[in-house]
Amino acid sequence: MKERIVILGGGESGTGAALLAKAKGFDVFVSDQANLKDKYRQELVAANIPFEEGKHTPEQILNANVIVKSPGIPPKAEIVKAAKVKGIKIIDELEFAYPYAKGKIIAITGTNGKTTTTLLTYHLLKSAGKKVCLAGNVGQSLARQVIDTTFDWYVIEISSYQIDGTVNFKPDVAVLLNITPDHLDRYEYKMENYIDSKFSLLQNMTEDGVFVFCADDEVTNKEVSKRSFKFRLIPVKNIGTRMDFPSFSVPQSDTTLKGPHNIINTMSAVNAALFAGVSESDIRAALKTFKNAPHRLESVGVINGVEFVNDSKATNVDSVIYGLGSYTKPNSLVWIAGGIDKGNDYNLIKDQVKEKVHTLICLGKDNIKLTEFFSPIVKEIKQTQSVKELVRMALESAKNGDVVLLSPACASFDLFKNYEDRGDQFRAAVLELKKEAGQ
Ligand code: ADP
Repeated sequence: MKERIVILGGGESGTGAALLAKAKGFDVFVSDQANLKDKYRQELVAANIPFEEGKHTPEQILNANVIVKSPGIPPKAEIVKAAKVKGIKIIDELEFAYPYAKGKIIAITGTNGKTTTTLLTYHLLKSAGKKVCLAGNVGQSLARQVIDTTFDWYVIEISSYQIDGTVNFKPDVAVLLNITPDHLDRYEYKMENYIDSKFSLLQNMTEDGVFVFCADDEVTNKEVSKRSFKFRLIPVKNIGTRMDFPSFSVPQSDTTLKGPHNIINTMSAVNAALFAGVSESDIRAALKTFKNAPHRLESVGVINGVEFVNDSKATNVDSVIYGLGSYTKPNSLVWIAGGIDKGNDYNLIKDQVKEKVHTLICLGKDNIKLTEFFSPIVKEIKQTQSVKELVRMALESAKNGDVVLLSPACASFDLFKNYEDRGDQFRAAVLELKKEAGQ
């Protein structure tokens, strides 16, 4: 009898896993408690893969030999608990796809910076002509990409939820950017559990592997000093505006990424690329052409000498520390913040705001917390709920050489669908204003 694989969650990773399982001759079934996106439903139908949506039917699921679970489904979901009771093996899509990936693996994790570092690592390898696949949380699932193509290198963004679903997954290069409290609800509110999850990425690595980690991150450093490793460690450190590698050095100004956090991201990506055999000259060239994913300190246009920057992904104060930290000129920022405050402590950015921000524009339905906190600190505070009005106000308040920074510190659901929608609307409004200004 064919082995039965049930896939819980029919998003990109679930659909990819289903297509791979089908291609490899398993008996496959997909179950999603929500409705499937049209494109995934169509793919399943076209591949003749049975599925259900809007429910989990235990009789169809609990007869599985293996369950491939979407990382978004918590371990305490009823169906997952029932599967555990029955002793069914539950794994992540990366674990399922991993044996079919024949090349070497660079796996990138951390609380923040994963997407940037993964995209940059991919770009460094790709620009150097390597046969490289980008997978994990960014772009297409690994499962989908191992069906009928082979690569020499796989650059994979991996979250702690995904790491939790691995057993044999073995990176050749593991990158750990940082560990700060996040998603602790999935880890019984214990930081040790979250740390253990991140470090279990290393569990199968052997002597020929490399572990790149941020030595400025206290939590990571402490954990590294407690453990012993049989593979090579490469600690990276932010020593200012220059990045040092064993045989060369690159100033951050020769890259497209700004800010101290991106020094760590860039150093990590470059070390991974060096391991993959990319040359110094190829690295230098590719660092100049890298384009990050949108909404992360994305420069969207310059009007009358004022640069507009979209950092809509910054939905908490921690991220804004890095957003503001990417600019050094005093009294030169128009800062746009606001939305749904998830319990922000604005003291963390008070000094930076005082030094760099002359105008705060609040974009949101309820701005009281922001205005009360910052009115003694910022010269001018304005408010709006319209993005069109926002960019005009910002331009009016800015002088030549200033930066208008949308780095909201808040979630976007009061006025927008999500942070991408907020950033997209901001970009569109800036480009329209730029056109009006004939620039
Ligand atoms: P992730 O994929 O882990 O969410 P991103 O690369 O999308 O990370 O970056 C998200 C935000 O996290 C950035 O806008 C920035 O504010 C912050 N960030 C990025 N890199 C780092 C880093 N190395 N350390 C701390 N914060 C970072």
